[in-house]
Amino acid sequence: MFWNRAMETIRPDELADLQLKRLKWTIHQAQNVGLYRRKFKEAGISPDDIRTLDDVEKLPFTSKKELQAGYPFGLFAVPMREIVRVHTTSGTTGKPTVVGYTRQDLENWSELIARNMTMIGLGEDDIFQNAVNYGLFTGGLGFHYGAEKIGATVVPSATGNTRRQIEMIEDFGVTAIHCTPSYALHLAEVAESMGKTLDTLKIGIFGAEPWSESMRAELERRLGVKAFDSYGLSEMYGPGVAFECPEHNGLHLWHDCYLAEIIDPKTGERLAPGERGELVITPLVKEALPLVRYRTGDVTRLMDDECTCGRGQKIARLTGRSDDMLVIRGINVFPSQIEHVLRALPEVGEQFMVYIDRVNHLDEMTIEVEMSKAGFSGELQDLTRMQKKIANELHNTLGLRTAVRLVEPGSLPRFEGKAKRVIDRRGIL
Ligand SMILES: [Zn+2]
Repeated sequence: MFWNRAMETIRPDELADLQLKRLKWTIHQAQNVGLYRRKFKEAGISPDDIRTLDDVEKLPFTSKKELQAGYPFGLFAVPMREIVRVHTTSGTTGKPTVVGYTRQDLENWSELIARNMTMIGLGEDDIFQNAVNYGLFTGGLGFHYGAEKIGATVVPSATGNTRRQIEMIEDFGVTAIHCTPSYALHLAEVAESMGKTLDTLKIGIFGAEPWSESMRAELERRLGVKAFDSYGLSEMYGPGVAFECPEHNGLHLWHDCYLAEIIDPKTGERLAPGERGELVITPLVKEALPLVRYRTGDVTRLMDDECTCGRGQKIARLTGRSDDMLVIRGINVFPSQIEHVLRALPEVGEQFMVYIDRVNHLDEMTIEVEMSKAGFSGELQDLTRMQKKIANELHNTLGLRTAVRLVEPGSLPRFEGKAKRVIDRRGIL
């Protein structure tokens, strides 16, 4: 099902024309912002230099820091009287970033959410519980207005009071829920403790935090839903930048509104198609806060698989933040890739540690892997076989040979906050 079939399945040549037209418009819109007038001047570039889509590479990047420096309204490209709403980022460090919306921006945003929801089969017959933080966080109001647009019955439950949330799902016959994956797990736990099976629930939309395929399997099993991954960021309106279709193989990026590039986060060079790196987005229809080549810090790759649903450009599920990237013998490695490989192996336990050393001028990566209680037989031949299997799996995914050291269940350090799983000893020892 399509909300806007013409745009969602637009022909590649027509799309390229539209993107170029909108890119030029965005550059002109950005000229209303002091930061961009200065940056374009420094780069010796004028909007007229943009003649093809590839010319976007001539433009300077925009960083999160620059957005923060414009606090609160310094990067708005329209007068305040045209701004009808502001949100702030849910940012983890430093000052918040304020994002603004014109009436048209809000219209564009709810259109994109409407596309997401229609794509996974939601419509007027659905009762949609929006169990995310309302208010300054973009996830709440973003989905709220998109869901109303498609005619679903919206239950703006927000977060908290989990038992009440579960009663509402049951009493109202809620068919779809939107929340963070971690809150969904909590909901499942509480529902189980209340002896509720939540039979009406069919669809779960999960976003705002990265989550793995094993988490998907768990959520689908415990909540009885089909789980869909939602990607967005406040700087690009909020949720609605890319979204999974029923194929569950990558997220469709709304190509008429966002121009995506993948760069090496260390060098800023654009990477070859299919390579994994930092996602850079130039939004193409944003009026209040136009951005040029915004560095999202999120890591993914552009997929070139044709999707059976008929829509265009997909990105792979997000695998972490570019700040976490390691360069080992010239190969970009993300700890999340290692985690992904290990989590898929039943013999592997909860924890792992990565050590990087430089031996005879060569980078060596050693991964200490805690075995699961079930997988730990203590038999030497089993351990050797296991070690080889893990090393092979890692080699297939990372394209890099690693040393694997197995350790007993429960022997690696536990972390209460953010886990520190990587110890880079190059240059120290
Ligand atoms: Zn698809």
